[in-house]
Amino acid sequence: MKSTLNRDQRADALRRMAHDTFDVVVIGGGVTGVGTALDAVSRGLSVALLEADDLASGTSSRSGKVFHGGLRYLEQLNFKLVKEALTERDLMVDRLCPHLVSPEKFLFPFTRRWERPYVGAGVLLYDLLRLTGTRSVKGHRHLTRAGVLREAPALKPNVTGGVQYYDVRVDDARHTMTVARTAAALGAQIATRARVVDVLREGDRVTGVRARDEESGEEVTVRGRTVVNATGVWAAEVQDLAGQRSIDVTAAKGIHLVVPGDRIDSKTGLIVKTHDSVFIIRRWFDYWLMGTTDTEWDHERDDPAATKADVDYLLTQANRLLRTPLAHSDVVGVYAGLRPLVSGKGSAGTTAALSRDHAVVEGPRGMFTVVGGKYTTYRIMARDAVNAAATRLGREVPPSRTERLPIHGAVGYEAMYHQRRALAAESGLDERWIVHLLGRYGTATTDLLDLIADQPSLGQPVPGAPGYLAAELHYAASHEGALHLEDVLVRRTRIFMETPDHGLEAAPFAATVVGEVLGWDELRRKEEVERYRVEREADRRATEALTDAEAVRVRHAVRAGEGE
Ligand SMILES: Cc1cc2nc3c(=O)[nH]c(=O)nc-3n(C[C@H](O)[C@H](O)[C@H](O)COP(=O)(O)OP(=O)(O)OC[C@H]3O[C@@H](n4cnc5c(N)ncnc54)[C@H](O)[C@@H]3O)c2cc1C
Repeated sequence: MKSTLNRDQRADALRRMAHDTFDVVVIGGGVTGVGTALDAVSRGLSVALLEADDLASGTSSRSGKVFHGGLRYLEQLNFKLVKEALTERDLMVDRLCPHLVSPEKFLFPFTRRWERPYVGAGVLLYDLLRLTGTRSVKGHRHLTRAGVLREAPALKPNVTGGVQYYDVRVDDARHTMTVARTAAALGAQIATRARVVDVLREGDRVTGVRARDEESGEEVTVRGRTVVNATGVWAAEVQDLAGQRSIDVTAAKGIHLVVPGDRIDSKTGLIVKTHDSVFIIRRWFDYWLMGTTDTEWDHERDDPAATKADVDYLLTQANRLLRTPLAHSDVVGVYAGLRPLVSGKGSAGTTAALSRDHAVVEGPRGMFTVVGGKYTTYRIMARDAVNAAATRLGREVPPSRTERLPIHGAVGYEAMYHQRRALAAESGLDERWIVHLLGRYGTATTDLLDLIADQPSLGQPVPGAPGYLAAELHYAASHEGALHLEDVLVRRTRIFMETPDHGLEAAPFAATVVGEVLGWDELRRKEEVERYRVEREADRRATEALTDAEAVRVRHAVRAGEGE
């Protein structure tokens, strides 16, 4: 069994899905779905996972990209959630995916006297709630005014002091894809662009799903002893397919902005309270990522759009803090995501279950909907979903093992990191590139170095996106399940949000490299580039709109070829 995800593996998975009966059929390839697939397959269960679009194409590529305990949940006195999330955060760094994460500093600057005792107590509790006391993620420290301005010279001079603590950066989309690869390596059958269009029942019991292959239009019936619905903001719609809705899911939009690293003179991320939440500026490699907003989204859930009003709001928040204000022209990237906000419907029992931070609800018999929680706690959600599904399998199922299961590329990462100089010398790449690759692929970096050894032109930076190597585009299609240009430029790499032209210059080159792997002819390459261009134009035009409704209308118009 291989950890490779690609077109051939997908075709094979769909063939097997048509013939076998699986212990668990997972709907949804966000972090919750792939986490569920990994949890189930690593307990010895047979697993099929169907994702309507690309891995992580929903909320799981659009988060704030931090494994965190959630300092603000302390204010809501939700100690259980914070403790659980901090334990997970530390586990990611220490064992499960050290190659994909990086502990980052966050500074809470004070301007009022009451803030030091209030925020200081919260941050102290944040550290005390950690069960393991791992050394990989440091604890907090208090800073004087001078200390704050040394750490963050960009701040306005009205600060009186501050407190600094650590949380952990993660590239959410790459992490989700890597969990999927780990599940595939253990035998999970995974198919992207396979949309579940019906849930099958015999009597009161769910027996599988019908899915449409979005590439070929063909339909496949996948038989399952249990089904896990891990579709986030779409969870209630998928319940409807099964004819039994027990939850309502409201979508709350949150957007983030990306600005180049040199626009904010700071050695640390920043966090401040807003009237109803928090505003955070965090390191994103050579950039800053800032967010977020929280507004109800009433439109198509596949397509959340950031508006001018959203961007203005975040720039206003940033400029409350910064000595040198940011302007629209400083923003290189914008993305929007939807939080699934769950409320119960129907029986009292269901509502009680939903009062937890995440919920697993059964209905109809044999189908389990897992929803809520946060990215950081995906492993717990997955474990709970599989525990619930196991009760319907009629046999003994071992407990979850994922706490002890490092994901693809993690084992041996540290040792390989210490060999980075030797790897650079051997491959002829600059050491900076080796560090870059190790932070994205872990020990699978050797796959990329082998590729470059075979095809030296892949060792070149991508024209128009000099932060990436051509080999990464190739590998996205050959090993990471990318089927379209959008998958490569938006999720396997972050070129769309890290380049001022949103990857338009890189797109034709990327289409050539990816097209060689996927067998695209010239027409197909052009179509992929054009589709990518239209999507970026649709995004750009949406950020000129003042309201969500207008943004949606403008996007549709751009896609229909009107008003470009
Ligand atoms: C703005 C914002 C910031 C956030 N920041 C953080 C953060 O910093 N840290 C943190 O811990 N959490 C954060 N979160 C929360 C976190 O992102 C989510 O909890 C998590 O990504 C949800 O993952 P999921 O797999 O449940 O849903 P999703 O990622 O949305 O996955 C659901 C999948 O189901 C698929 N699907 C839907 N219908 C079907 C169908 N019929 N057939 C097949 N597939 C289907 C979709 O295509 C999608 O890929 C943030 C959320 C938002 C919106």
